[in-house]
Amino acid sequence: MKIVVAKHMGFCGGVKRAVEMARSTAEQSSGPVFTWGPLIHNPQVVRQLEEAGVRVAGSPEELRGEAFIVSAYGVEGAVLEMARARGMRIVDATCPVVIRAHTLALKLVEEGYDVIAVGDHGHPEMVTLKEVLGDRVTVVHTLEEARQVKVGPRVGVISQTTQSQENFQRIVADLVVRAKEIKVINTLCPAITVRQVEANQLVQEVDALVVIGGHQSSNTTRLYEIGRANGIPTYHVEVADELKAEWFEDVEIVGVTSGASTPDWIIADVIARLQQISRRKELTQASS
Ligand code: SF4
Repeated sequence: MKIVVAKHMGFCGGVKRAVEMARSTAEQSSGPVFTWGPLIHNPQVVRQLEEAGVRVAGSPEELRGEAFIVSAYGVEGAVLEMARARGMRIVDATCPVVIRAHTLALKLVEEGYDVIAVGDHGHPEMVTLKEVLGDRVTVVHTLEEARQVKVGPRVGVISQTTQSQENFQRIVADLVVRAKEIKVINTLCPAITVRQVEANQLVQEVDALVVIGGHQSSNTTRLYEIGRANGIPTYHVEVADELKAEWFEDVEIVGVTSGASTPDWIIADVIARLQQISRRKELTQASS
């Protein structure tokens, strides 16, 4: 079985920066260091960070310590205020690409546009945007939702940084014909777009696709959806142990890609396991 690996895998710049900031904050602190919920959507990395002293607060009662790390996608204002009020040092690991998207959305509002943000309801990036812009921004996740929105005379459109290009394009195409004036700003993250473009190319040349990343990671899920939409068997795994040899019985070429919060060591483990499955397959075929 041939294994074809995507060029861009592993941590994106924003995740790498957030993980490094969290680690060095823990190293430099004598008291507890917290994030609000997991720092990134990868449980194995979050576990490693916990071992290095970065704790995950899941409730206001738990949020007491020396430092508070804002995740790459930001954090709700109320949580930030709570950490400040409790005397915690704030370490802002918000990704510059997310800050750019929010700044551009704010500029659109200042220019008099009603903003439509294509994103996932409840995603921290959209929650924090809504906090800042209030009623001037409407979050839509699907084309159906976008069609329900009453369009004002001037519409500005941005996207959550980790949305799929296709979804953004579909919604923009619908709004373009309904709005009198429209200003579209591409705020998709290049690190995400390149992974999606590569996944779309990969699915043309393989019989099956393995997508590596946290089960809660939205950008990993989008890569999985690309495989599914192209009608090839697609498997979303967090770690190598989830791979099953029988998935690859009739597969000649398997593609591998990963989300932007998947560490290199998990990718290496998954590839090693696929190579092992491939060798066993060859041995079985040779002896039969
Ligand atoms: S995917 Fe893009 S926006 Fe998200 S953390 Fe990485 S670099 Fe930043």
